[in-house]
Amino acid sequence: KLVNSRDNALLARASKVVPNGVWGHMATRAIGPGYPQFFAKSDGCRVWDVDGNEYIDFMCAWGPNILGYKQPDIDRAAIDQIGIGDIGNGPTEVMVELAETVVDTIDYADWALFQKNGTDATTTCVTVARATTGKRKILVARGAYHGAVPWCSPSVVGVTTEDRAHLILFDYNDRASLDEAVAQAGDDMAAIMMTAFRHDVNRDQEMPEEAFLKHARAICDRTGAALILDDVRAGFRLDVRGSWARYGVKPDLGAYSKSIANGWPLAAVAGSKSMLEGASKIFVTGSFWYGSAAMAAALKTIEILRTTDALAHIEAMGQRFRAGLTEIAARNGFELSQTGPVQMPMVRFLGDEDLTIANAFCAAALRHGIYLHPRHNMFLCAAHQPADIDRALEAADAAMKDTIRTAR
Ligand code: PMP
Repeated sequence: KLVNSRDNALLARASKVVPNGVWGHMATRAIGPGYPQFFAKSDGCRVWDVDGNEYIDFMCAWGPNILGYKQPDIDRAAIDQIGIGDIGNGPTEVMVELAETVVDTIDYADWALFQKNGTDATTTCVTVARATTGKRKILVARGAYHGAVPWCSPSVVGVTTEDRAHLILFDYNDRASLDEAVAQAGDDMAAIMMTAFRHDVNRDQEMPEEAFLKHARAICDRTGAALILDDVRAGFRLDVRGSWARYGVKPDLGAYSKSIANGWPLAAVAGSKSMLEGASKIFVTGSFWYGSAAMAAALKTIEILRTTDALAHIEAMGQRFRAGLTEIAARNGFELSQTGPVQMPMVRFLGDEDLTIANAFCAAALRHGIYLHPRHNMFLCAAHQPADIDRALEAADAAMKDTIRTAR
């Protein structure tokens, strides 16, 4: 049984001084019933809430944790850099080294610049595309998430139609729909922006079709528009070279954040030569964007990803988790839809349109010590070991049995 008295007290206190107590995607009212709101600590693949309940974590801070919370080599690199100096009146040498590393690592990158959040990076990609092309229209996939500022926020509250005036929507993986959007943009198309694969909330994930990516690439080659890869969520977890490297499709611009520094705050825009002039003309900046501690963490994170089998390990753990869930579901009389890459699992119960079963299952899973999400993709990290996955599967089995009693 979950104890949550301290959690409730903190939320009551916060509610007096913070809008709704907590904002954004980590507000538990936006996730589902039974979730603790406040956490006390994290380590490896585990998190502890403020009431002392321990969870094997399958959200990984919604992506940033790729090599384990508190990974000692990465934290050491960042803390050492804090000892030397984090922010000043300009970058340190670490910035140059990190840009060289990104260019050497990401297959289409000839240059990089650094920021703090994924939204900084996606927004800058749009600005660079417009600066390069002199055009205005940005084509984005219906239902995709690119950040939380007016041009792309999933909420329309406080947003004007003018903020979105130059967005044109198409359906991911649908060539005809993309062609229609391109026709609608006419000769005013600045960019096509897409996530690494389709990972919209509350629907099955879809890998990109190679022919679709190549079609988008060909359109951009023909028209001069920029092909933008929003790799904020998937970047580095699937492939350190960029998530489309395996398809042989090179975007012109890419946005990174989340896992690039294993939880230290950093974002990056990577671009090809053709975007360099535009990127050199725009003005983008931020008080903390040259902070070198997070850059030192990113250098170490990328080094580990490039020189160890961490990514293969994460994939193997994802496979173990998916196969185990399939078996447990069958045993308990549930049918699951598990889609997208195993490193970023999306688990949905078939026939559960209103999420009654998913919500009951995830609430029960919390009581049995695992932190899942009922309708958003989850994340695995290199700290997940076979014993953690097996322990999580036992918890999932117990949670399904609870769900049968309470929700079916
Ligand atoms: N793009 C994608 C695909 C994302 O998943 C996110 C974050 N969930 C963002 C952009 C925005 O990143 P941030 O929240 O760091 O601004």
